[in-house]
Amino acid sequence: MMFDLHVHSVYSDGVLVPAELARRFADVGYDLVGIADHIDFTNVDLIGRVRTGVEKQVNEDVEVAVGAELTHVPPDKISELAGRARREGASHVVVHGETIVEPVEPGTNAAAVRCRDVDVLAHPGVLSIEDAEAARENDVFLEVTTRTTHGLGNGRVVEVAREAGAGLILNSDFHHPRDLPTREFRENVVRSAGLSVDDDAFLNDPSEILG
Ligand SMILES: [Zn+2]
Ligand SMILES: [Zn+2]
Repeated sequence: MMFDLHVHSVYSDGVLVPAELARRFADVGYDLVGIADHIDFTNVDLIGRVRTGVEKQVNEDVEVAVGAELTHVPPDKISELAGRARREGASHVVVHGETIVEPVEPGTNAAAVRCRDVDVLAHPGVLSIEDAEAARENDVFLEVTTRTTHGLGNGRVVEVAREAGAGLILNSDFHHPRDLPTREFRENVVRSAGLSVDDDAFLNDPSEILG
């Protein structure tokens, strides 16, 4: 099954409305696309609005889930906002991790992997072994990304996740049609980080999160 749970629409800083996102992902063979727009305390109500619209435009070729990516939220507020996102109907909660290409506040990774309402820690950068162990304990999946910037950390994420026994997930962090990875590119990104997409470490059934 081919899916992506970290995709941005025009409602944050992506360029496509959800209907076009669905069509483009379906066209290259995806079974499910999970919207996760940038959310903080000022726009958490967006989730419900996008969900209501998406439910009206069901696409037979691809399932569309509406989650959230908590972005640059102070670490001590992540748990509270993750709970709010759940109550707004988020199908999955992603936290924008400590990528080395943005000034994400230190402590963001640690807070995310210790929050039961978080499903995915995106692009965690120089992830610590302690945080990878907490991710395993709390069922938070660690992201390997096809995005060329954040992807600088993929090797470290794979190494530490394997050592801790934490789960991995492959996402695109899509913002623009040029970010849409083909099956072949996804496989090459994972292989270049030292694993194969068939590795047991990778989430292969998103219903485990979206349940
Ligand atoms: Zn963005
Ligand atoms: Zn993102």
